[in-house]
Amino acid sequence: MSYWKQRTILKRVGCSGVGLHSGAPARLTLAPAPPDSGIRFVRTDLGIEVPARADAVVDTNLSTTLGAGAARVATVEHVLAALTGLGIDNCRVEVDGPEVPILDGSSAPFVYLVEEGGVALQPVGKRFLVVNQATEVRVGDRVVRLEPARELSLRFTADFAHPLITEQVFGFTFSDRSFAREVAPARTFCLLKDVEAMRARGLALGGSLENAIVVDEFSILNPGGLRFPDEFARHKVLDALGDLTLAGLPLIGALTARKSGHAMNQALVRKFLANPASHRVVRVSGEKELEPLQIRLPALTLPGAGYGLA
Ligand SMILES: [Zn+2]
Repeated sequence: MSYWKQRTILKRVGCSGVGLHSGAPARLTLAPAPPDSGIRFVRTDLGIEVPARADAVVDTNLSTTLGAGAARVATVEHVLAALTGLGIDNCRVEVDGPEVPILDGSSAPFVYLVEEGGVALQPVGKRFLVVNQATEVRVGDRVVRLEPARELSLRFTADFAHPLITEQVFGFTFSDRSFAREVAPARTFCLLKDVEAMRARGLALGGSLENAIVVDEFSILNPGGLRFPDEFARHKVLDALGDLTLAGLPLIGALTARKSGHAMNQALVRKFLANPASHRVVRVSGEKELEPLQIRLPALTLPGAGYGLA
């Protein structure tokens, strides 16, 4: 058993595609990184590193954008969700353009990349941010809340005042469910009536039925339909997991959200990190320490573990 060890990518692996909002092409490569270095983006065309941390967030308008100096990396949440969902602690995410490729609009292609690259165990114990105290952000009827729990879980209520996305609830606990099968394949979505407005603002320029679920007044426009009846709420869990990754370390706590988005998720992460009483950092240095801490980790994913795309 090696649940306590940090994990990185075994060998470099990459893909290419366009950004959802910019429409810009980019190549993305997942590469190994040393223990305790965390997840870092590198704009290889500019030679600038951008840490996947809350203090590097520069925009949360429809997607989460990181920045350092002149470099921007947009729409980081789906690749971050895949890395966190598979328990990857350290990874260098190289991108040669301004936005992470949207691929099919979900985290499944990034899960596939990790499977292709393989997972390497590192001889250093994993570190966690353990939630000590509840933190909440509330705006009208929208809320996102992080509270103490024995393991990481996320529960999201999506309610878009639309017949297909009303009061849709999805909850996910890492120890007993498969992130790769149940969360990663859920795609991003938008309402058809919002598409023109987004394009007028220079957003969703790379969007299509190949990389997003598009919903008109009554129906799903994608010819293949949905991957899950509650795909919308599942994708919001995916987004929240990606956004929580910007806390800088994997969390042990329970997230409950209703109608929140990237901006509220980041406000929560910043409020949580700003209050030293809300959390503590724990390093698991051996298997024996797992039991007293009662930390249950995401299932270990190694090459050949056998999960697939939806
Ligand atoms: Zn998303």
